[in-house]
Parts: sequence; C-alpha cells; structure tokens
Amino acid sequence: MSTFVNKRVVIIGGGVAGSVLAKTLQEHAQVFLIDPKEYFEIAWASLRCMVEPSFAEKTLINHTEYASNAHIITSAAINISETEVTTANGKTISYDYLVIATGHDEKTEFTKTEKLGYFKANQEKIKSTNSILIVGGGPTGVELAGEISTDFPGKKVTLVHRGSRLLEFVGEKASKRAQKWLLKKNVEVILGESVTNLSSNTNGGIYKTSGGKSISADCHFLCTGKPLASTWLKETMLGKSLDNKGRLMVDETLLVKGYKNIFAVGDINDVKEMKQGYLAQMHSLVVAKSIKSLVNGKEKLEAYKGGAQMAIVSLGRKDAVAQISGMTMSGWIPAKMKSGDMFVTKTRKTLGLTS
Ligand SMILES: Cc1cc2nc3c(=O)[nH]c(=O)nc-3n(C[C@H](O)[C@H](O)[C@H](O)COP(=O)(O)OP(=O)(O)OC[C@H]3O[C@@H](n4cnc5c(N)ncnc54)[C@H](O)[C@@H]3O)c2cc1C
Repeated sequence: MSTFVNKRVVIIGGGVAGSVLAKTLQEHAQVFLIDPKEYFEIAWASLRCMVEPSFAEKTLINHTEYASNAHIITSAAINISETEVTTANGKTISYDYLVIATGHDEKTEFTKTEKLGYFKANQEKIKSTNSILIVGGGPTGVELAGEISTDFPGKKVTLVHRGSRLLEFVGEKASKRAQKWLLKKNVEVILGESVTNLSSNTNGGIYKTSGGKSISADCHFLCTGKPLASTWLKETMLGKSLDNKGRLMVDETLLVKGYKNIFAVGDINDVKEMKQGYLAQMHSLVVAKSIKSLVNGKEKLEAYKGGAQMAIVSLGRKDAVAQISGMTMSGWIPAKMKSGDMFVTKTRKTLGLTS
C-alpha cells in the first residue's frame, strides 16, 4: 500500500544530510532537492581522490541515482519566504515543509565529469612536482598529507598550521599521534605560523611564514576549512535564526526555533556535538520520521537524542587516528574502520546503491 501524500517537502542542500533525507522521503511526499551541484559527493573520501582519481567514480553520485523520485533543482537557493524558496536560476518552489541542509560552502565543480577532471588535474600536479606545501592542519590538511606521503613517498611535503597543534577539533593526544605519524613519513610540520604570500605564489616558489621562515615548494594546497553555507541566509527571514557562528538555532526536534515547518539538519544547525557526517545522517533520519508523521496529519515529532561522539582521521591507506567517546586510538584498528575504502561502501549502501 502506498503511503505517498501530496505534500511538498523542499530540501536545500544535497550533501551528507540532504541526500539521506531526499532518499528516505521520496516515496512519502513530493520531494524537491535543491543543490548547485548535480551530484552528491562523499566528502570524507575526497582526499583519497586527490591521489587516486579513479576512486572518485564511486564517491561522486548524481542525485538522480539515489533520489529518482525526487525533483532535482540544480541551482543554489538564494531566498526563502514563509511559503516558497527562490533559486539562483530564477525558480520559485513552494513548500509545505522545508529543510535546510547547506552544511559548508564550497566553490566546486557543477557536474560529475568536471569534478573527476579536477581530481585528475590535482593528481597530475602532485605527480609532476617534487615539493608540496599544505596550508592548514585540520582534518583536510592532515588527511591530504597522509595520502601524498603514502602514495608518493619521495615528495617533500611541508604542512604549515596556524594553530598550536594539529586537529584542534579532537584532543591533544590524537593531535600528537597524528603529528608523530607525519614526522615518521618525513612530512615537515610547522605549527603556530601562517603563510603570508600565498597569492603571489600560485605556481609555487618561495613561501614566507609569519615566523620568518622560507619554504621552497613547487605547488601548494590550501586546506584551511570551508565556511558554513549560511551567508545567504542572513538576508532571508531566517537571518534572525542564526547564532553568532552562522548556525541555525534549532530545538530538540531540529525545527528552527520559532517555526513549525522549517527544520535544519547537519553541520548547519547549532546542535552541540562534534560536527560529523554520521551525525548529520542521524539528524535526517529523525526529521524524516517527523515529516512522515506531519504529512499524514499527525503531530508527533521525533526528538534528536544525539549519538556517540566519534572522529576518525585517516593517515594514508593503512593508518588512522581516532577519538571515540573521549578515548584516543591509532593504528590499524581505526584504519580498518575508515582508511581502506573511506566509508564509501557504507555510504553508498545508505543511499540504496551497490558498492
Ligand atoms: C577531511 C574531512 C574528513 C571527514 N571525515 C569524516 C568521517 O570520517 N566521518 C564523518 O562522519 N564525518 C567526517 N567529516 C565531516 C563531514 O564531512 C561533515 O560533517 C558532513 O559533510 C556534513 O554534512 P552536511 O550535509 O551538513 O553538509 P555538506 O556535506 O557540506 O553538504 C552541504 C550541501 O549543501 C549544498 N549547498 C550549499 N549552499 C547551498 C545553497 N545556497 N543552496 C543549495 N544547496 C547548497 C552544497 O552544494 C552541498 O551539497 C569529515 C570532514 C572533513 C573535512
């Protein structure tokens, strides 16, 4: 028996959270998924794609593959009213329920083919250079240094990080283990300094640091983290619902505070927890249950109860450092969980796709 109800659910953002939500709700209501890219990207696998571009065939998934019953609108949302969303390509889409899932902002390629080309070009760049500077020692910079030093052990890799330790989003013990691993792989790590002349060194050269060091490198990768994709929201009616970090303030059911039909899921909301993709997916499953109930005229909303706090940072293909419920681990055990296939099979399964 079909449970489809003719209500309109608009999801803004087809990332980790938005993709799961669209997949889950598409049989229950009219789903509209708005995303500037025509594909969902398994974000945590992207550094592997930089050294092995063919890996990206599995990590870039067109929205039509997993949400074939949803209406896909390939554009950015630029405005919201009480009843509709406007997109950059001039469409207005009315909604009964709206979910904001815009996570982090990234100026990225529009089609899967373009993104595959981006990874291929970066691999070529890595292959053809002898020395590489990585700017930023968060998960992106550390994972990239891990991938390059594993697959191209002859390259001279230098990582410069402004903070006093790597991976500041986890505890000190995990930071130290990651740093020790990188040093073993001959990655030079410079902490507490920033690079001051990036813009004049687009094709490599002598990079200067705030501490007066000079680093010679043939190219650089900027890995300083992406800003939240909420700047556009400031000009909308939800501007007043943003906290001072640019996150949407939600209640325990993940409804934006003060609204009865607008939810926010994933990194964009202000739930106090580690911002991780598996938690973003949990948000979506909770909101999917609530929306299924609402479209059927019931008022019961699910509360989000949170999940175990876990972060795994891969260090090449066979190592990783992890913090799981406050405990630090490193070596083959966390690597077995993530570093082999970077959760690609698991993520694809969640979207109903084979590996
Ligand atoms: C290097 C690295 C490793 C990580 N490893 C892990 C890991 O091992 N496990 C884990 O659970 N998490 C991991 N994370 C964290 C995880 O990637 C994020 O928590 C997750 O991507 C958040 O999902 P999201 O859906 O909220 O946002 P995102 O995945 O950022 O998706 C946002 C989507 O919104 C779209 N969008 C943006 N603006 C607009 C707009 N105006 N209109 C329409 N669409 C818009 C974007 O195109 C994008 O598709 C890692 C992160 C990094 C950087």
